Amino acid sequence: MKTSEIQDSIFAPGEKTSPDYFTGTALLNVLVPKDETGTFTIGNVVFEPGSRTNWHTHPAGQILLITSGTGFYQEKGKTARVITKGDVIVIPSQLEHWHGAASDSSFSHIAITNTTEAGAVKWLAPVTDEEYRNCLGHETRFI
Ligand code: MN
Repeated sequence: MKTSEIQDSIFAPGEKTSPDYFTGTALLNVLVPKDETGTFTIGNVVFEPGSRTNWHTHPAGQILLITSGTGFYQEKGKTARVITKGDVIVIPSQLEHWHGAASDSSFSHIAITNTTEAGAVKWLAPVTDEEYRNCLGHETRFI
């Protein structure tokens, strides 16, 4: 990631995410670990080009506020959606999905994740290179 992109970001970039749950380099800065109600957390995630989450679900849903770059959001069984700065994604509970950067753009979002006794996220399989490549044809329509 270019130094200028990190310097321009609103929040500090944070720590590298686990390769168990992410492909490529993504940085997570937990902005609010849990508020006094204990019902949600807020994190800023910065993805290098090509990096993405594994497939996963959230027991009580998640909201993504896209703050820079171009990326993808894909729900299982559906075509990936290209998402850019200013987009807001509301992810229902238990819906399998992934999010991450386009192949030629870094990407960042604020993630507001509801938490329950079942936790905030259930991690599943990585998004394969083939699954990711299937998204790339859609990029050119938007960039
Ligand atoms: Mn998610």
